[in-house]
Amino acid sequence: MKKDYYEVLGVNRDASDEEIKKAYRKLAMKHHPDRNPDNPKAEEHFKEAKEAYETLSDGQKRAAYDQYGHAAFEAGGMGGGSPFGAGGAGAAGFDFSDIFGDIFGGGRGGGGRSNVQRGADLRYNMEITLEQAARGTETQIRVPTMAECETCHGSGAKPGTSPTSCTTCGGMGQVRMQQGFFSIQQPCPRCHGSGKIIASPCKDCSGNGRIKQHKTLSVKIPAGVDNDDRIRLSGEGEHGMNGGPPGDLYVVIHIKPHAVFQRDHNDLHCEMPISFSTAALGGEIEIPTLDGAARIKIPAETQSGKQFRLRGKGIKGVRSSSHGDLHCHVIVETPVNLTDRQKELLREFETINATDSGHHNPRAKSWMDKVKDFFGQ
Ligand SMILES: [Zn+2]
Ligand SMILES: [Zn+2]
Repeated sequence: MKKDYYEVLGVNRDASDEEIKKAYRKLAMKHHPDRNPDNPKAEEHFKEAKEAYETLSDGQKRAAYDQYGHAAFEAGGMGGGSPFGAGGAGAAGFDFSDIFGDIFGGGRGGGGRSNVQRGADLRYNMEITLEQAARGTETQIRVPTMAECETCHGSGAKPGTSPTSCTTCGGMGQVRMQQGFFSIQQPCPRCHGSGKIIASPCKDCSGNGRIKQHKTLSVKIPAGVDNDDRIRLSGEGEHGMNGGPPGDLYVVIHIKPHAVFQRDHNDLHCEMPISFSTAALGGEIEIPTLDGAARIKIPAETQSGKQFRLRGKGIKGVRSSSHGDLHCHVIVETPVNLTDRQKELLREFETINATDSGHHNPRAKSWMDKVKDFFGQ
């Protein structure tokens, strides 16, 4: 642990410049190597005092030290000796941008000088039907794009003129800013990092060199795509900056709700309401599938909730080798809007049924028995 500079000099944190100077002089006299030959301890004290004084006697260094302590001077990693290295603060070799970048608002220049940037990726949300998802489809989309301005051929300068190299940054696009006693690399404020100045901008593109247009792209949707699947159109995103490569365009699939089927991965589910009499007597009904109608044999005494599975009538996923299944969920529908004749027949049916209801309605009977046990009767 390094000693606190104020403690080293034996002054208060609000000491005046004069007090700091006086304290340092006193210590320097006392511990000076000339006065203390062969005394490594004294030499150590002398160095400490000198270092403390050098920091606290400089307004900017003192402010940095007050705020960050010794950490304010450690980033440079200059080993040994004075913490400021040869040539003092602000000399080449110190790069505080990693620590102080957020304080001074950016400027993490890194090594890049030309400001080349890859264009942004774009997202296009595409709604398709379940049938299109199952079979695959090809469709066209219109996406915004920045195209080269035909008037200035992308230079941004009025025809007959040309951009000149920025004199502020010498065409580098980056400048070193002196912030207090450290320097920070920042995009040039005059040319905004492009390194070029356009004196008379092209009127059609306002000096951007590009104009907004729309382009039509053909998108092939493979069979079997599911919700949130993405199709990448390489290089169809936004243009790069200063010669950088373009981004990609991602088409994101959204499947519209279907009137009959719900999809679960590669399987399809549907409800299959059947009449009360079909459920009791059995029969055959026609159901839709994605490849046309199919027939299902309903056995006699089919109950609500029974599932019929039609193998291979689901969807073949993009990455799977076989089709999913279609699951039909039986719902026995209680008849409504009954005629007098229907009611008469049902009442007659109920009368016959009641003579041996345990035999005809075993579930109802078993449930009643459990309820009776529950109440202890
Ligand atoms: Zn132009
Ligand atoms: Zn510049």
